Amino acid sequence: SAAGTAMNLKDHIRGIPDFPKPGILFYDISTLLRHGPAWKEAMRRLAEIVRPHRPTLLAGIESRGFLVAAPLALELGLGFVMLRKRGKLPGAIIGLNYALEYGTDRIEMQADAVKPGDRVVILDDLLATGGTLAASIALLRQAGAEVPGAAALIELTFLKGRERLGGTAFDALIAYD
Ligand code: AMP
Repeated sequence: SAAGTAMNLKDHIRGIPDFPKPGILFYDISTLLRHGPAWKEAMRRLAEIVRPHRPTLLAGIESRGFLVAAPLALELGLGFVMLRKRGKLPGAIIGLNYALEYGTDRIEMQADAVKPGDRVVILDDLLATGGTLAASIALLRQAGAEVPGAAALIELTFLKGRERLGGTAFDALIAYD
């Protein structure tokens, strides 16, 4: 629509300084989520990015990635898979540890969540260093899936996170540099 084309999604994101710790500028998507037309327009634009990858499943990264991936999966008529922090998922699990600036983190999924030949597109709210998304891509590949693409609402371009994603295409709706 004309209104949709004109809408600037950046107007619906706010930066909150020193959260969750000093020196971090936290990009808060709550203001986008609570504005119906902006939220709908964001999902419409993400659907346009995701559809050409011809996914068979969408995956969301805990927890704000769930808010992006689940409605998009419903919109596209696809299933939705949770990529979670350690210890949250029941049953047989596969996981991958990855390095943070200080220490390590771990991403997990259910071992039977994907089957060989599945094409999984991964969604998150924001790409920063790309460590979380790179680990998620590696984990899904380990499980036998292809990962043709990934997308997020926001990309912090100055951190060059997309350079860590190998052959997986990446797009975001909003960039900060
Ligand atoms: P990274 O692994 O460095 O790309 O970090 C990405 C994850 O951390 C995403 O799941 C984001 O939700 C979160 N994140 C990192 N930096 C920020 C930020 N400045 N504002 C909001 N969320 C962030």
